[in-house]
Amino acid sequence: MRNSASLTRVIGVANIVVVTVAIAALLLLPTAGEPTPGKAAAVGTVQPSKKAEVQPEPQPDLPSGEPPPPVTATPEFARQVKANELGLVPVIMYHRIMKKRLASIDRTPSQIRQELEKLARQGYVPITAKEFATGDIRVPAGKFPVVLTFDDGHASHFALDGAGMPKKDTAVRIIYDVARKYPSFRPVATFWINSQPFGLRNQSDQAKAVRWLTEHGFEVANHTWGHPNLAVLPKKKVQEQIVRLERLLKKSGAPPSETLALPFGSMPHLKKIARKGSWGGISYDLAGVFLAGAEPSLSPYAKKFDRGAIQRIQSNGKKGECRKWCSQYWLEWLNKHPGERFVSDGDPERISIPRKTRGNITPKRIGQVNAY
Ligand SMILES: [Zn+2]
Repeated sequence: MRNSASLTRVIGVANIVVVTVAIAALLLLPTAGEPTPGKAAAVGTVQPSKKAEVQPEPQPDLPSGEPPPPVTATPEFARQVKANELGLVPVIMYHRIMKKRLASIDRTPSQIRQELEKLARQGYVPITAKEFATGDIRVPAGKFPVVLTFDDGHASHFALDGAGMPKKDTAVRIIYDVARKYPSFRPVATFWINSQPFGLRNQSDQAKAVRWLTEHGFEVANHTWGHPNLAVLPKKKVQEQIVRLERLLKKSGAPPSETLALPFGSMPHLKKIARKGSWGGISYDLAGVFLAGAEPSLSPYAKKFDRGAIQRIQSNGKKGECRKWCSQYWLEWLNKHPGERFVSDGDPERISIPRKTRGNITPKRIGQVNAY
């Protein structure tokens, strides 16, 4: 974050703008029955565990970020677990973690810990922004995906202590602590970084940090090089900003980004260049571009899902401009409207939905539908 006051203002404006859209979108979503997480397992058949891409050797003391083993969901099974894979998913946006908050978007370590523990108790299971945007959602049957995203590569997101373990009160350490306490809570998150990831200036330190995270199942991806307002930059500069950060990731041994968070949530004039473009001979082609507020996202399988402008929710209580539209408000809202929430069928190959919502699925996913 370069300018918290203006960022807060931008989010404030975004909040107001999305209100109408949010209400319209929610009204369009049909209601299904109340999900009962936990009741699931019996009917589905457990398939042999398909390992997802490069899974690291977990250190003995750290819970594994590997996704749960998939099941095969029949329509009957999907009905039993009240699967609703066209439901809403909270993508939560965090910034700095500070014992003493300086800006309204800062969170204290205990505020984050409490929010994550609450998510774990309520049946949410984290996936990365990349998994969400590509529709690779591996969450146990009857549970709800949540995406934890950290912007600006702040030092409070990741650092190692003297023993080589994630430092106390960093985002990564808190996530592991919660996963240890609640084993169903898969310890993964997305870190969107700028030119000095995690406050590190030295290239080899940056590479070490980025590699540690990706090897442990975290996603590290693009938040542009210098965190400019892309809405006021010429097309070429926008692409330069994205590619320069891609070069840093490449030098750090990370795979090319599949996701990007727009600085201040502000979209370039030519919207499509946030997702796809090139500069200096290097190109990028992203699966998802994320905004900075202020409602749960549509399912990536929904016809109306826009991967070029994915909604997020600011982590915050219910004060001031967060009286509505921040995480406490929305997580309470989703608990009160369980039929609107994305409920997994535990089967990554099939998309289980109540029959009456069939018309809302994106055409290219129709072959995967398991309607009940
Ligand atoms: Zn930012």
